[in-house]
Amino acid sequence: MSELDIIQRIRARAKRGNSTIRLGIGDDCALLRPDAKFDLVFTTDLTIENRHFTRRTYKASEVGHLALARSLSDLAAMGSEPVFCLVALAVPGELAGRWLNDFYKGLLHLADKHKITLAGGDLSKADTVIADVMCCGRVPRGRALLRSGAKPGDGIFVTGRLGKPKRLPEPRLSEGIALRAFASAAMDLSDGLSLDLHRLCLESGVAAELDSSKIPIARGSTLEKALHYGEDYELLFTASAVALEGTCIGVIRKGKPGQVHLDGRILKPKGWDHFGG
Ligand SMILES: [Mg+2]
Repeated sequence: MSELDIIQRIRARAKRGNSTIRLGIGDDCALLRPDAKFDLVFTTDLTIENRHFTRRTYKASEVGHLALARSLSDLAAMGSEPVFCLVALAVPGELAGRWLNDFYKGLLHLADKHKITLAGGDLSKADTVIADVMCCGRVPRGRALLRSGAKPGDGIFVTGRLGKPKRLPEPRLSEGIALRAFASAAMDLSDGLSLDLHRLCLESGVAAELDSSKIPIARGSTLEKALHYGEDYELLFTASAVALEGTCIGVIRKGKPGQVHLDGRILKPKGWDHFGG
């Protein structure tokens, strides 16, 4: 199958759901005409074979789902509604047929569910699978949820249960939109609670106190994994009021920016640092 054939097939499947997209797949660029009432947010995430998945344990459709979900989770963390995505994909030559087809099947299934338009991308050959998914979302002007808004006295909350990576993570988009009404800061949990909370506190210039007995641990997991494993794709947020969306696991305090205590003891950030030791 030629590259043009492949692109035509993807184009036929990619629905143009959002009127903000004036031009999707087929030209040199996608064309977007944003509404002045919104801020646009952008994020990009790499999904790499043998780093984030192996071909032995993941089906192609699952890799497609995962690649988009990782990026959508960042949109959720900003409290934004999805608009469009661009997908750059490189695969070994022998995967250009069915594998590639199934990858897009998985990706577009999740895209349809969250009403995000696949508006373009790139295809290339490489020795291993590398997928880069760029997502754009929109938020009412000035209402994006940032990492920098946490205040001393705010409660710390998480959605879902932690410590068990999901093969098909469900990005928390509706929860993220609901959080805009009351959260002071938010981010998604992709690299582990200890490291991600440390990052949120650094950005907000605050410290945090966690209560281990309140952390919602996934069935079959442990506190250690809930604290330090990545790939949860749940939302971590702070709020001054009681939140219905999540479980309260601690409180924001004045203190050394970025420092996290667990049951009164310093908790070192040990999550997934791509370039850490
Ligand atoms: Mg993130």
